[in-house]
Amino acid sequence: MTAVDTHAGPAVRRPQVDPGKLFIGGQWREGAQHCEVIDPSTGSVITTVVDATEDEVSDAVLAARTAFDNGQWARLPGRERGRVLNRVAELVRRRADDLVAVESLDVGKPVALCRPVDVMTTADQYEYYAALAQSMDGAVRDIPINAHAYTRREPLGVVGAITPFNFPLILSTTKIAPALAAGNAVVHKPAPDTPLSALLMAEILAEAGVPDGVVNVVTGGARAGEALVRDPRVDKIAFTGSTAIGKHTAQLAGAALKPVTLELGGNAAHVVFEDADLHKAIGAVIKAFVFNSGQFCMAGPRLLVAEPLYDTVLGILADAVSGVPIGDPFDGTTVIGPMAGERQLAKVLAYIEQARAEGGRVIAGGERLDLNGGFYLRPTVIAGLPAESRVIQEEIFGPVLTVQSFSDEDEAIALANGTPYGLAAGLQTENLARAHRVAARLRAGIVWVNDWAMLDPAVPFGGVKQSGFGREYGPEALASYTTTKSVVISLD
Ligand code: NAD
Repeated sequence: MTAVDTHAGPAVRRPQVDPGKLFIGGQWREGAQHCEVIDPSTGSVITTVVDATEDEVSDAVLAARTAFDNGQWARLPGRERGRVLNRVAELVRRRADDLVAVESLDVGKPVALCRPVDVMTTADQYEYYAALAQSMDGAVRDIPINAHAYTRREPLGVVGAITPFNFPLILSTTKIAPALAAGNAVVHKPAPDTPLSALLMAEILAEAGVPDGVVNVVTGGARAGEALVRDPRVDKIAFTGSTAIGKHTAQLAGAALKPVTLELGGNAAHVVFEDADLHKAIGAVIKAFVFNSGQFCMAGPRLLVAEPLYDTVLGILADAVSGVPIGDPFDGTTVIGPMAGERQLAKVLAYIEQARAEGGRVIAGGERLDLNGGFYLRPTVIAGLPAESRVIQEEIFGPVLTVQSFSDEDEAIALANGTPYGLAAGLQTENLARAHRVAARLRAGIVWVNDWAMLDPAVPFGGVKQSGFGREYGPEALASYTTTKSVVISLD
């Protein structure tokens, strides 16, 4: 078996989850309409949440606006806001068991991976931005008139944060932590399929001392999201989701001259050169396409292999992929859980059918796993598709890997850059000069060499081309939630 991180740990009990309410102005509020939340590992209903109406979103925006305009949060010294964010990190760690259980239940994430990946990195992000909250300083500018000129970095105001179904906890934190560090107020709308950790985080943020109205959570779907984007009292939209909805969001935000950051779809190439350490490379290749059942914007679903290695790699993959443990996310040894929903599973199965129709050879997986009524798909490897196939060009968003060969570095780079997306890319090589040379030519927001998905709150993340614009993580994200004001004082 090739090296795939498993993080195996103890089994966890499925939690009971109460029906969700809206969190507005520091109060839990019942809503007018509701929708069901489904357990993807069984297909049964977990609970219901509010499907927020336009009026309810408007109330949340008013609460955020009032907290920002009249409250203390934006005026606190950064160090004080940092203290609150450190308490959030502390509470996330203290309540890790609750967060792991809820996130795994909602998304179908294996508990053993959810703890280190989703929950602990959430705590890390709050800590990172707690420290950066203290660096919200400006600069003095030397100018040739008799005046004292300086800049102030100020929060933007009310931020609308809209997040997708696949990493609810992490992707809401990538927005809320820097937005709060900078002094903004937030209205968060999580994805309708996976809203539960957002409600738990509302509780944690309040307990940590985030003032009423500074973070509000409205659950719901497109109606609630669009109401947030359209509301003129919202100063910025931070959106993560599909390229199609991202474009629509950008159009609405553009019409209102509202800044927007867009973290959109991806379709990363993973290039294995003939000088790679094959054992390590295959481990990274498998991790890159099965992690989170492939529902991973930065997944590596397109494997490009140097011609001399092609047959060997296909042979190893066919064996190794079928050995990755798939099953109940609450079993501590599971590496691949179900897909997050029936809709996602159906979409991925349709791509596999399309690949077969185009003459693709399915060398592993290719079918649903019948288990407890859950939305499981066996990890699938497909060879023999042409580069222009829709299955290669489009974002599949499931545990599916296509494999192509290349003859030299130029062809590898052309194939890697040959889709509309540009979020992530990776390469496997032991040749240092090649690593730098190829990394520079790959059109992607982040490039990994000799491993996959190495992420840290300090390292900026985001896309080019159809994968969006703007950066999350790092000081770049903090800056995107601020505006610069210049103050010039006459000394005459
Ligand atoms: P989606 O675009 O369907 O939904 C994303 C969010 O937008 C949800 O909260 C949804 O309710 C909301 N929404 C839907 N219609 C809206 C509208 N008209 N106005 C405003 N909001 C609206 O995406 P999804 O299926 O939840 O997530 C999967 C997609 O997200 C994939 O394409 C994936 O690549 C992408 N993604 C990107 C990143 C990244 O960092 N670049 C990270 C994770 C996921």
